[in-house]
Amino acid sequence: MKILVVNAGSSSLKYQLIDMQTEAVLAKGGVERIGIAGSLLKAKGNGKEKVYTQDMPNHKIAIELVLKALQDGEIGVIKSMDEIDAVGNRIVASGEYFKKTTLVTPEVLKTLEEKTFELAPLHNPAAATGLKACIEVMPKTPMALVFDTSFHQTMPEKAYMYGIKYEDYKEYGVRKYGAHGTSHKFVSQEAAKYLGKQPDKLKIVTCHLGNGSSISAVDCGKCVDTSMGFTPLAGVLMGTRSGDIDASAVEFLARKKGLNHADTVTYLNKQCGVAGISGVSSDFRDLIAGEESGNERCALALDMFAYQTKKFVGAYAAAMGGLDCIVFTAGIGENTPTVREDVCEGLEFLGVKFDKAANDRKNDGTVHEISAKDSKVKVLVIPTNEELVIARETAELL
Ligand code: AMP
Repeated sequence: MKILVVNAGSSSLKYQLIDMQTEAVLAKGGVERIGIAGSLLKAKGNGKEKVYTQDMPNHKIAIELVLKALQDGEIGVIKSMDEIDAVGNRIVASGEYFKKTTLVTPEVLKTLEEKTFELAPLHNPAAATGLKACIEVMPKTPMALVFDTSFHQTMPEKAYMYGIKYEDYKEYGVRKYGAHGTSHKFVSQEAAKYLGKQPDKLKIVTCHLGNGSSISAVDCGKCVDTSMGFTPLAGVLMGTRSGDIDASAVEFLARKKGLNHADTVTYLNKQCGVAGISGVSSDFRDLIAGEESGNERCALALDMFAYQTKKFVGAYAAAMGGLDCIVFTAGIGENTPTVREDVCEGLEFLGVKFDKAANDRKNDGTVHEISAKDSKVKVLVIPTNEELVIARETAELL
């Protein structure tokens, strides 16, 4: 079985074709600048790369070009489109409308469009545009929606509720949904595999630390809490996102800066986080370089990030009543040893015995252990693979 995984943004579209027998990536690539001058597709297959430059005014043309690349004489990996058994589409927000991976029908598409767009106005409309383009080009191929939020659906009510009027939660669905669910699911399962234990015997805190960051408590294989909230603005401070902030401070800031509601949320999403604190960059490589050259605001941004992440680890150990394993993943989690060290520093009381030499070893793209052999709590670096989870979920649904 071959599954095409599609992750569509407003002007971009990333894809992977995965063979489910071996879980090998047969082909992958990305379209950039859809609807903008200079659109291009970078496609890989058969160990080669090819760049297609052509006008792609919309997602339909982009998908058509992806299918052409998949069947290309040089980099192609399939003979005809019929070899694609299903398409798994990544969807950021589900609200309470979708609890698990869902096969697309006209009703499902309607619900996606009518109910979920306002929950993720940047992401869901773009994903729906990509999905509709796939349906147009491959009308007979089954399509699945795989939600970033599904893995968090096991959170108990006490974890996902906000302290607002219950009637308002019921009426508007305002509660914690979380994000990066496919990543948290993947790395928690990989951790169990690596440790040679059944997932239902483990209490794991997964730290997905990237441009967007979230931390989850995974107890017995199920998510019981997560740091992101109603939207991916909540939790720790991120590249440009503020993370958690007192709602009254938001209103105060808006008044002082003369911003309306929408602009205030944009400000908190795009101008804050470590970029706003440092005044230098949202990229942790720049922050580390800044800290090394004596920039105090870069040092503060890094300190805040590690401190806030550490607090979630502690809180989730308390929530689960114990801790067996901490996992670091995503761009920062996989590649930035100083952040991992700062997060784990002082967690000895929980049973973490950190191995600095192992932590400093270069990331080789495999699972590696950065806790001492006799550490009660294992600390692991695990490369995430969200596309593989989307493909697995799609295959399972079929
Ligand atoms: P992501 O959103 O998962 O792609 O992560 C982006 C973040 O990861 C940025 O802050 C980068 O600085 C950081 N990052 C990505 N790759 C590396 C790397 N090779 N070395 C250090 N940091 C990296």
